[in-house]
Amino acid sequence: MRLQDGAELAGLPAVEAKNVTKTFGAGPDAVVALDNVSVTIGQNEFFTLLGPSGCGKTTLLRLIAGFEMPTGGSILLEGQEVAHLPPFKRPVNTVFQSYALFPHLTVAQNIGFGLKMLGRKRAVVEDAVSQMLKLVRMEPMRNRKVHQLSGGQQQRVAIARALATRPKLLLLDEPLSALDLKLRKEMQIELKRLQHETGITFIFVTHDQEEALTMSDRIAVMSRGKILQIGTPNEIYEHPVDRFVADFIGETNFIEAEVTQRLGNKGEIRLPSGIEVARELGAQVAVGGKVTLAIRPERIDLVRPGAECQLAGKVENIVYFGTDTHFHIDLDSGGDLTVRVQNRRGHQEILKMGDAVGLRIAPEAMQVLKD
Ligand code: ADP
Ligand code: MG
Repeated sequence: MRLQDGAELAGLPAVEAKNVTKTFGAGPDAVVALDNVSVTIGQNEFFTLLGPSGCGKTTLLRLIAGFEMPTGGSILLEGQEVAHLPPFKRPVNTVFQSYALFPHLTVAQNIGFGLKMLGRKRAVVEDAVSQMLKLVRMEPMRNRKVHQLSGGQQQRVAIARALATRPKLLLLDEPLSALDLKLRKEMQIELKRLQHETGITFIFVTHDQEEALTMSDRIAVMSRGKILQIGTPNEIYEHPVDRFVADFIGETNFIEAEVTQRLGNKGEIRLPSGIEVARELGAQVAVGGKVTLAIRPERIDLVRPGAECQLAGKVENIVYFGTDTHFHIDLDSGGDLTVRVQNRRGHQEILKMGDAVGLRIAPEAMQVLKD
Protein backbone atom coordinates (compact mmCIF):
# COMPACT_ATOMS: atom_id res chain seq x y z
CA MET A 1 0.00 0.00 0.00
CA ARG A 2 2.82 2.37 0.88
CA LEU A 3 4.76 4.23 -1.75
CA GLN A 4 7.68 6.46 -0.88
CA ASP A 5 8.17 9.37 -3.20
CA GLY A 6 10.94 11.90 -3.76
CA ALA A 7 9.84 14.35 -1.08
CA GLU A 8 9.58 11.60 1.50
CA LEU A 9 12.93 10.11 0.58
CA ALA A 10 14.50 13.57 0.76
CA GLY A 11 13.20 13.87 4.33
CA LEU A 12 11.16 17.00 3.63
CA PRO A 13 8.52 17.71 6.25
CA ALA A 14 4.91 17.19 5.15
CA VAL A 15 3.84 20.60 6.43
CA GLU A 16 5.59 23.67 7.74
CA ALA A 17 3.74 26.69 9.08
CA LYS A 18 6.10 29.62 9.57
CA ASN A 19 4.98 32.55 11.72
CA VAL A 20 1.43 32.18 10.47
CA THR A 21 -1.07 34.83 11.49
CA LYS A 22 -4.72 34.94 10.49
CA THR A 23 -6.98 37.86 11.28
CA PHE A 24 -10.67 37.92 10.39
CA GLY A 25 -12.31 41.31 9.85
CA ALA A 26 -10.67 44.67 10.44
CA GLY A 27 -10.60 47.53 12.94
CA PRO A 28 -12.13 47.09 16.40
CA ASP A 29 -14.06 43.97 15.30
CA ALA A 30 -10.94 42.15 14.08
CA VAL A 31 -10.47 38.61 15.44
CA VAL A 32 -6.95 37.24 15.62
CA ALA A 33 -7.65 33.53 15.02
CA LEU A 34 -3.97 32.58 14.71
CA ASP A 35 -1.15 34.54 16.29
CA ASN A 36 2.35 33.82 14.96
CA VAL A 37 1.99 30.03 14.76
CA SER A 38 4.99 27.93 13.70
CA VAL A 39 4.96 24.15 13.45
CA THR A 40 6.69 21.45 11.42
CA ILE A 41 4.86 18.18 10.78
CA GLY A 42 6.84 15.18 9.54
CA GLN A 43 6.01 12.65 6.84
CA ASN A 44 3.77 9.80 8.09
CA GLU A 45 3.07 11.52 11.37
CA PHE A 46 -0.21 11.30 13.24
CA PHE A 47 -0.19 14.90 14.42
CA THR A 48 -2.95 16.36 16.60
CA LEU A 49 -4.04 19.94 17.15
CA LEU A 50 -5.58 20.02 20.62
CA GLY A 51 -7.27 22.93 22.34
CA PRO A 52 -10.58 24.34 23.54
CA SER A 53 -13.26 25.58 21.16
CA GLY A 54 -12.31 28.84 19.43
CA CYS A 55 -8.51 28.46 19.85
CA GLY A 56 -7.88 28.40 16.07
CA LYS A 57 -7.66 24.67 15.20
CA THR A 58 -10.08 24.75 12.26
CA THR A 59 -8.52 27.97 10.96
CA LEU A 60 -5.08 26.31 10.83
CA LEU A 61 -6.53 23.32 8.95
CA ARG A 62 -8.31 25.61 6.48
CA LEU A 63 -5.06 27.46 5.79
CA ILE A 64 -3.25 24.18 5.12
CA ALA A 65 -6.09 23.02 2.84
CA GLY A 66 -6.12 26.38 1.03
CA PHE A 67 -9.69 27.41 1.90
CA GLU A 68 -8.24 30.53 3.56
CA MET A 69 -5.10 32.57 2.99
CA PRO A 70 -2.85 33.60 5.91
CA THR A 71 -2.72 37.30 6.85
CA GLY A 72 1.00 36.86 7.54
CA GLY A 73 3.62 34.12 7.42
CA SER A 74 3.78 31.17 5.07
CA ILE A 75 2.70 27.56 4.65
CA LEU A 76 4.91 25.00 2.94
CA LEU A 77 3.88 21.53 1.81
CA GLU A 78 6.87 19.25 1.27
CA GLY A 79 9.15 22.25 1.18
CA GLN A 80 7.08 24.20 -1.38
CA GLU A 81 5.39 27.48 -0.54
CA VAL A 82 1.72 26.94 -1.51
CA ALA A 83 0.22 30.44 -1.34
CA HIS A 84 -0.51 30.36 -5.06
CA LEU A 85 -2.15 26.90 -5.04
CA PRO A 86 -5.96 26.63 -4.86
CA PRO A 87 -7.35 23.83 -2.63
CA PHE A 88 -7.93 21.34 -5.45
CA LYS A 89 -4.30 21.59 -6.54
CA ARG A 90 -2.94 20.76 -3.08
CA PRO A 91 -2.21 17.10 -2.23
CA VAL A 92 -4.59 17.44 0.71
CA ASN A 93 -8.03 16.10 1.60
CA THR A 94 -10.26 16.95 4.53
CA VAL A 95 -12.73 14.94 6.61
CA PHE A 96 -15.22 17.13 8.42
CA GLN A 97 -17.25 16.49 11.54
CA SER A 98 -20.43 16.65 9.45
CA TYR A 99 -19.54 13.87 7.03
CA ALA A 100 -20.83 15.86 4.03
CA LEU A 101 -21.63 12.72 2.03
CA PHE A 102 -23.83 12.86 -1.08
CA PRO A 103 -27.19 11.47 0.09
CA HIS A 104 -28.42 10.43 -3.36
CA LEU A 105 -25.31 8.34 -4.11
CA THR A 106 -24.42 4.86 -2.88
CA VAL A 107 -21.47 4.10 -0.62
CA ALA A 108 -19.35 3.05 -3.61
CA GLN A 109 -20.34 6.13 -5.65
CA ASN A 110 -19.48 8.41 -2.74
CA ILE A 111 -16.04 6.84 -2.38
CA GLY A 112 -15.36 6.99 -6.12
CA PHE A 113 -16.62 10.54 -6.56
CA GLY A 114 -13.29 12.37 -6.29
CA LEU A 115 -11.53 10.02 -8.70
CA LYS A 116 -14.37 10.34 -11.21
CA MET A 117 -14.07 14.13 -11.01
CA LEU A 118 -10.37 13.79 -11.73
CA GLY A 119 -11.35 11.98 -14.93
CA ARG A 120 -9.91 8.60 -13.98
CA LYS A 121 -10.91 5.60 -16.10
CA ARG A 122 -13.83 3.56 -14.88
CA ALA A 123 -11.74 0.48 -14.17
CA VAL A 124 -9.27 2.54 -12.11
CA VAL A 125 -12.12 4.06 -10.08
CA GLU A 126 -13.69 0.64 -9.50
CA ASP A 127 -10.40 -0.77 -8.37
CA ALA A 128 -9.70 2.09 -5.94
CA VAL A 129 -13.25 1.92 -4.55
CA SER A 130 -12.89 -1.81 -3.85
CA GLN A 131 -9.58 -1.21 -2.13
CA MET A 132 -11.02 1.57 0.01
CA LEU A 133 -14.11 -0.45 0.92
CA LYS A 134 -11.81 -3.18 2.13
CA LEU A 135 -9.59 -0.74 4.01
CA VAL A 136 -12.52 0.67 6.01
CA ARG A 137 -14.22 -2.75 6.24
CA MET A 138 -17.39 -1.67 4.45
CA GLU A 139 -17.41 -4.13 1.52
CA PRO A 140 -20.85 -5.62 2.27
CA MET A 141 -22.42 -2.14 2.21
CA ARG A 142 -21.09 -0.90 -1.13
CA ASN A 143 -24.54 -0.51 -2.71
CA ARG A 144 -26.32 1.07 0.23
CA LYS A 145 -27.51 4.65 0.23
CA VAL A 146 -26.05 6.98 2.84
CA HIS A 147 -29.29 7.21 4.86
CA GLN A 148 -29.20 3.43 5.33
CA LEU A 149 -25.97 3.71 7.34
CA SER A 150 -25.26 4.36 11.01
CA GLY A 151 -23.23 7.41 12.07
CA GLY A 152 -20.08 5.33 12.44
CA GLN A 153 -20.53 3.75 9.00
CA GLN A 154 -21.07 7.16 7.42
CA GLN A 155 -17.87 8.35 9.03
CA ARG A 156 -16.00 5.37 7.54
CA VAL A 157 -17.35 6.24 4.09
CA ALA A 158 -16.27 9.87 4.53
CA ILE A 159 -12.76 8.71 5.45
CA ALA A 160 -12.64 6.23 2.55
CA ARG A 161 -13.76 8.95 0.15
CA ALA A 162 -11.02 11.27 1.42
CA LEU A 163 -8.36 8.56 1.12
CA ALA A 164 -9.45 7.32 -2.34
CA THR A 165 -7.61 10.07 -4.22
CA ARG A 166 -4.42 9.17 -2.33
CA PRO A 167 -3.69 12.55 -0.78
CA LYS A 168 -0.29 13.11 0.84
CA LEU A 169 -2.01 14.72 3.75
CA LEU A 170 -5.33 14.01 5.40
CA LEU A 171 -6.88 16.70 7.58
CA LEU A 172 -9.49 15.51 10.08
CA ASP A 173 -11.54 18.20 11.80
CA GLU A 174 -13.11 16.69 14.94
CA PRO A 175 -14.26 13.71 12.87
CA LEU A 176 -15.37 11.61 15.83
CA SER A 177 -17.14 14.15 18.01
CA ALA A 178 -20.63 13.29 16.69
CA LEU A 179 -20.25 9.62 17.64
CA ASP A 180 -21.20 8.06 20.97
CA LEU A 181 -18.42 7.06 23.33
CA LYS A 182 -18.16 3.36 22.46
CA LEU A 183 -18.15 3.98 18.71
CA ARG A 184 -15.69 6.82 19.14
CA LYS A 185 -13.24 4.50 20.91
CA GLU A 186 -13.60 1.95 18.08
CA MET A 187 -13.04 4.61 15.42
CA GLN A 188 -9.98 5.92 17.27
CA ILE A 189 -8.35 2.51 16.89
CA GLU A 190 -9.59 2.27 13.31
CA LEU A 191 -8.09 5.65 12.37
CA LYS A 192 -4.74 4.74 13.89
CA ARG A 193 -4.78 1.54 11.84
CA LEU A 194 -5.68 3.42 8.63
CA GLN A 195 -2.90 5.92 9.17
CA HIS A 196 -0.42 3.13 9.82
CA GLU A 197 -1.47 1.08 6.80
CA THR A 198 -1.59 3.94 4.30
CA GLY A 199 1.44 5.88 5.60
CA ILE A 200 -0.42 9.14 4.88
CA THR A 201 0.30 12.09 7.18
CA PHE A 202 -2.75 12.77 9.36
CA ILE A 203 -3.46 16.12 11.00
CA PHE A 204 -6.21 15.44 13.47
CA VAL A 205 -8.16 18.12 15.35
CA THR A 206 -9.83 17.49 18.68
CA HIS A 207 -10.76 19.28 21.90
CA ASP A 208 -10.64 15.93 23.74
CA GLN A 209 -7.35 15.53 25.58
CA GLU A 210 -7.76 11.79 26.12
CA GLU A 211 -8.34 11.26 22.40
CA ALA A 212 -5.21 13.29 21.63
CA LEU A 213 -3.08 11.37 24.14
CA THR A 214 -4.14 7.93 22.94
CA MET A 215 -3.96 8.52 19.17
CA SER A 216 -1.13 10.92 18.37
CA ASP A 217 2.56 10.64 17.57
CA ARG A 218 2.82 14.31 18.54
CA ILE A 219 0.41 16.92 19.84
CA ALA A 220 0.33 20.71 19.53
CA VAL A 221 -1.60 22.24 22.43
CA MET A 222 -3.31 25.47 21.37
CA SER A 223 -4.94 28.32 23.25
CA ARG A 224 -6.21 31.66 21.92
CA GLY A 225 -4.56 31.44 18.52
CA LYS A 226 -1.17 30.31 19.82
CA ILE A 227 0.63 26.99 20.06
CA LEU A 228 1.76 26.65 23.68
CA GLN A 229 3.60 23.34 23.45
CA ILE A 230 4.45 20.68 20.90
CA GLY A 231 5.52 17.22 22.00
CA THR A 232 4.78 13.52 22.23
CA PRO A 233 1.81 12.56 24.41
CA ASN A 234 4.26 11.53 27.11
CA GLU A 235 6.19 14.82 27.00
CA ILE A 236 3.00 16.86 27.10
CA TYR A 237 1.56 14.87 29.98
CA GLU A 238 4.71 14.47 32.08
CA HIS A 239 6.34 17.83 31.30
CA PRO A 240 3.71 20.47 30.62
CA VAL A 241 5.47 23.82 30.17
CA ASP A 242 2.82 26.04 31.64
CA ARG A 243 -0.30 26.13 33.73
CA PHE A 244 -2.72 26.05 30.80
CA VAL A 245 -1.21 22.87 29.33
CA ALA A 246 -0.92 21.19 32.74
CA ASP A 247 -4.55 22.00 33.50
CA PHE A 248 -5.96 21.15 30.07
CA ILE A 249 -4.27 17.74 29.84
CA GLY A 250 -5.43 15.37 32.55
CA GLU A 251 -5.85 16.25 36.21
CA THR A 252 -3.18 18.26 38.01
CA ASN A 253 -2.44 19.65 41.45
CA PHE A 254 -0.80 23.06 41.63
CA ILE A 255 1.46 23.89 44.57
CA GLU A 256 3.28 27.16 45.17
CA ALA A 257 6.91 26.96 46.26
CA GLU A 258 9.64 29.47 47.02
CA VAL A 259 13.12 29.46 45.50
CA THR A 260 15.70 29.41 48.33
CA GLN A 261 18.93 28.78 46.38
CA ARG A 262 20.07 28.67 42.84
CA LEU A 263 23.22 27.76 40.93
CA GLY A 264 23.06 27.77 37.13
CA ASN A 265 19.78 26.15 36.14
CA LYS A 266 19.62 24.09 39.34
CA GLY A 267 18.14 25.29 42.58
CA GLU A 268 16.39 24.50 45.83
CA ILE A 269 12.73 25.21 46.34
CA ARG A 270 10.85 25.25 49.63
CA LEU A 271 7.45 23.53 49.70
CA PRO A 272 4.63 25.01 51.83
CA SER A 273 5.48 22.34 54.44
CA GLY A 274 8.97 23.89 54.82
CA ILE A 275 10.69 20.92 53.17
CA GLU A 276 13.30 21.79 50.55
CA VAL A 277 13.70 19.97 47.27
CA ALA A 278 16.32 20.29 44.50
CA ARG A 279 14.87 21.06 41.05
CA GLU A 280 15.87 22.50 37.70
CA LEU A 281 14.64 26.06 37.37
CA GLY A 282 13.89 28.39 34.48
CA ALA A 283 16.02 31.50 34.05
CA GLN A 284 13.30 33.92 35.17
CA VAL A 285 13.08 32.93 38.87
CA ALA A 286 15.48 34.44 41.38
CA VAL A 287 16.06 33.48 45.02
CA GLY A 288 13.00 34.56 47.03
CA GLY A 289 10.77 34.23 43.95
CA LYS A 290 7.77 31.92 43.70
CA VAL A 291 7.25 29.04 41.31
CA THR A 292 4.20 26.91 40.61
CA LEU A 293 4.63 23.14 40.69
CA ALA A 294 2.35 20.79 38.77
CA ILE A 295 1.98 17.38 40.39
CA ARG A 296 -0.11 14.58 38.85
CA PRO A 297 -2.50 12.89 41.33
CA GLU A 298 -1.12 9.42 40.52
CA ARG A 299 2.46 10.49 41.30
CA ILE A 300 1.72 11.02 45.01
CA ASP A 301 1.92 8.20 47.57
CA LEU A 302 -0.06 8.25 50.79
CA VAL A 303 2.03 7.23 53.80
CA ARG A 304 1.52 6.98 57.56
CA PRO A 305 1.77 10.28 59.39
CA GLY A 306 5.31 10.67 60.70
CA ALA A 307 6.84 8.59 57.87
CA GLU A 308 9.21 10.41 55.51
CA CYS A 309 7.12 12.68 53.29
CA GLN A 310 7.08 16.09 51.56
CA LEU A 311 3.62 17.32 52.56
CA ALA A 312 1.09 16.35 55.22
CA GLY A 313 -2.65 16.72 55.62
CA LYS A 314 -6.01 15.16 56.47
CA VAL A 315 -8.33 13.09 54.29
CA GLU A 316 -11.20 15.39 53.40
CA ASN A 317 -13.05 13.16 50.95
CA ILE A 318 -12.76 9.70 49.35
CA VAL A 319 -14.25 8.93 45.92
CA TYR A 320 -14.25 5.37 44.59
CA PHE A 321 -13.91 5.04 40.77
CA GLY A 322 -13.64 1.26 40.37
CA THR A 323 -10.18 1.22 38.80
CA ASP A 324 -8.86 3.70 41.34
CA THR A 325 -9.78 5.80 44.34
CA HIS A 326 -9.37 9.56 44.63
CA PHE A 327 -8.42 11.01 48.00
CA HIS A 328 -8.96 14.72 48.51
CA ILE A 329 -6.46 15.94 51.06
CA ASP A 330 -6.60 19.16 53.07
CA LEU A 331 -2.97 20.18 53.50
CA ASP A 332 -1.74 21.22 56.95
CA SER A 333 0.09 24.07 55.18
CA GLY A 334 -3.12 25.34 53.56
CA GLY A 335 -4.84 24.45 50.29
CA ASP A 336 -5.73 20.96 49.10
CA LEU A 337 -4.81 18.39 46.53
CA THR A 338 -6.01 15.14 44.99
CA VAL A 339 -4.23 11.81 45.20
CA ARG A 340 -5.16 8.91 42.96
CA VAL A 341 -4.48 5.38 44.16
CA GLN A 342 -4.93 2.35 41.93
CA ASN A 343 -7.25 -0.29 43.36
CA ARG A 344 -5.05 -3.34 43.20
CA ARG A 345 -6.09 -6.58 44.81
CA GLY A 346 -4.72 -6.82 48.35
CA HIS A 347 -3.69 -3.19 48.19
CA GLN A 348 -6.74 -1.57 49.78
CA GLU A 349 -5.76 1.45 51.83
CA ILE A 350 -7.65 1.49 55.10
CA LEU A 351 -8.12 5.24 55.24
CA LYS A 352 -11.15 7.08 56.54
CA MET A 353 -12.25 10.64 56.23
CA GLY A 354 -10.51 12.83 58.77
CA ASP A 355 -7.42 10.56 59.00
CA ALA A 356 -4.02 12.26 59.08
CA VAL A 357 -1.71 11.24 56.21
CA GLY A 358 1.73 12.00 54.82
CA LEU A 359 2.19 12.67 51.11
CA ARG A 360 5.35 11.28 49.55
CA ILE A 361 6.28 12.89 46.23
CA ALA A 362 9.45 12.15 44.25
CA PRO A 363 11.19 15.40 43.21
CA GLU A 364 10.95 14.48 39.52
CA ALA A 365 7.15 14.32 39.87
CA MET A 366 7.16 18.04 40.72
CA GLN A 367 7.09 19.81 37.38
CA VAL A 368 8.24 23.43 37.66
CA LEU A 369 6.01 25.55 35.40
CA LYS A 370 7.06 28.53 33.32
CA ASP A 371 4.47 30.85 34.84
P1 ADP B 1 -11.62 26.08 16.73
O1 ADP B 1 -11.68 25.27 15.50
O2 ADP B 1 -10.39 25.84 17.56
O3 ADP B 1 -12.85 25.97 17.57
P2 ADP B 1 -11.69 28.34 14.88
O4 ADP B 1 -10.43 28.20 14.11
O5 ADP B 1 -12.93 27.89 14.23
O6 ADP B 1 -11.50 27.64 16.32
O7 ADP B 1 -11.87 29.85 15.30
C1 ADP B 1 -10.87 30.65 15.90
C2 ADP B 1 -11.40 32.06 16.11
O8 ADP B 1 -11.58 32.69 14.85
C3 ADP B 1 -12.73 32.10 16.82
O9 ADP B 1 -12.74 33.24 17.64
C4 ADP B 1 -13.71 32.26 15.67
O10 ADP B 1 -14.87 32.91 16.10
C5 ADP B 1 -12.93 33.10 14.70
N1 ADP B 1 -13.31 32.84 13.28
C6 ADP B 1 -13.16 31.68 12.60
N2 ADP B 1 -13.58 31.79 11.33
C7 ADP B 1 -14.03 33.07 11.20
C8 ADP B 1 -14.60 33.82 10.13
N3 ADP B 1 -14.78 33.28 8.90
N4 ADP B 1 -14.93 35.12 10.37
C9 ADP B 1 -14.72 35.68 11.57
N5 ADP B 1 -14.21 35.02 12.62
C10 ADP B 1 -13.85 33.74 12.46
MG1 MG C 1 -13.18 23.91 14.88
